[in-house]
Amino acid sequence: MSASSNFDANHATFRNQNLIGGQWKDAVSGKTIAVENPATEGIITHVPQGVQEDIDEAVRVARTTFQSPAWRKIRPIDRGRILENIARKVEENADELAYLESLDAGKAIEFAKVIDLPSTVDVFRYMGGWCSKLGGTTPPISFDGREYHAYTRREPIGVVGAISPWNYPLALGSWKIASALAAGCTVVLKPSELTPLSTLRLAELCLEAGLPEGALNIVNGYGHEAGQALARHPDVDKITFTGSTVVGKKIVEYALGNMKRVTLELGGKSPGIVFADADLDQAGLGAALAVFFNSGQVCFAASRLFVQASVYDQVVEAVSAAAGQFKVGNGLDPDTMLGPLVSRRQQERVMDYVQSGIEQGARLVSGGKTLGEKGYFMQPTIFADVDPSMRIAQEEIFGPVISIIPFKDEAEVIHMANDTSYGLAANIWTRDIKKAHRVAHRLQAGSVWINCHGVIDPAAPFGGFKQSGWGREISEEGLLAYTETKTVCALLDD
Ligand code: NAD
Repeated sequence: MSASSNFDANHATFRNQNLIGGQWKDAVSGKTIAVENPATEGIITHVPQGVQEDIDEAVRVARTTFQSPAWRKIRPIDRGRILENIARKVEENADELAYLESLDAGKAIEFAKVIDLPSTVDVFRYMGGWCSKLGGTTPPISFDGREYHAYTRREPIGVVGAISPWNYPLALGSWKIASALAAGCTVVLKPSELTPLSTLRLAELCLEAGLPEGALNIVNGYGHEAGQALARHPDVDKITFTGSTVVGKKIVEYALGNMKRVTLELGGKSPGIVFADADLDQAGLGAALAVFFNSGQVCFAASRLFVQASVYDQVVEAVSAAAGQFKVGNGLDPDTMLGPLVSRRQQERVMDYVQSGIEQGARLVSGGKTLGEKGYFMQPTIFADVDPSMRIAQEEIFGPVISIIPFKDEAEVIHMANDTSYGLAANIWTRDIKKAHRVAHRLQAGSVWINCHGVIDPAAPFGGFKQSGWGREISEEGLLAYTETKTVCALLDD
């Protein structure tokens, strides 16, 4: 990726207001929220604490823009060009955006540069291409023998409310923004109160790229205030939410008032499966990366690892050896592989799970401790001999903790892997191609990776089975979720 900016972190400035109708504004109340650096516990800046009034204004502007000729009459190919311009702007400012993401979310900057940033660029570019290809169909009508001409139209849903999480704020917010704009919708997005900075800079770049004012509005605030107001708003036509399953269920309730469309990307407890015939070195490293990457704060982290009994000890050893190589530190240090957890609250939650694993009798192989005086650092933590009924094997931890569980055969591991309320993702390590696909077909998961993990591309649908969500994001399927289908039927007979 070509980053051509002259960004100097020593002179970084932060966009720290709401963006409504192209204007940067404080919250109506004047109240703010402190934005913390999780590596140092220092305060980076403050952002507005938006509430109902701020959301009302942003939704009003998004509605007016949606109905305005300035937005509606843009030729599809020109809307695509705006999205391509945004992709280019993000590319040009990649160093700055990676810095903001690392500073604010704690993540390792070198990984932000090669994962979060390309993912953001790609989704704008991919969705931009769709603008001029989003067409309908011409159903052959048999109705009563008379001649009809029928066709379908894919129309934009309208005003989209988007709520994003703190683990991949830029990339996951961009999935929503790019898809909604490509479909012709307008957007009000509420970023996580923990990590708003990259989203605010992205919004500024969108304006610089030629996006009409009011097509993308950002309101900062807490979930129970601004988030709830957005999800409940009677003039929002669709809500797209990424976050925890607990909050996802609330979103469904809030959306009921006007039956707004709902897309949910929620939590996971994804299984990794290592068969005895796998390349065990590859599987050990792959399984360690699959759970510890981004310090485990990944919705599709493979936090349950099932290993065939005959190679169990060997794989526990390999995962442990790999994890021992992962350097924990400030995400801004280029050598860091695992940054801090996002907040003190998250660190305490994860440490509670570690304690419960110990109390319920799992074997702590390595890790299990916090690190450093300041910041929310934690060792990669490996539990072996875990019983599938233990809390650490059932509940989403969202931290660097893996539960390794032995299995006998294919039937048993399929049963255990599916024995969870989640169904976001899975990985399978084996050299047997038939077994790989057989097992992939039986797993209840939205994404199954064979001899790899976390391969996410805007062309491939992403989302969860069961309580991991509703619907899919990105890909053609994700784009269509921002449209309504209208059938138009005309009688041609006199
Ligand atoms: P969260 O549910 O606490 O918060 C997510 C967003 O929802 C934030 O912007 C928050 O302010 C807002 N929110 C909180 N309460 C709300 C309410 N009552 N009404 C409206 N909005 C509210 O989740 P998080 O802690 O930010 O992120 C971690 C969770 O997100 C994990 O469960 C993780 O698995 C999930 N996640 C899922 C995916 C996916 O694609 N499936 C991706 C990333 C994260």
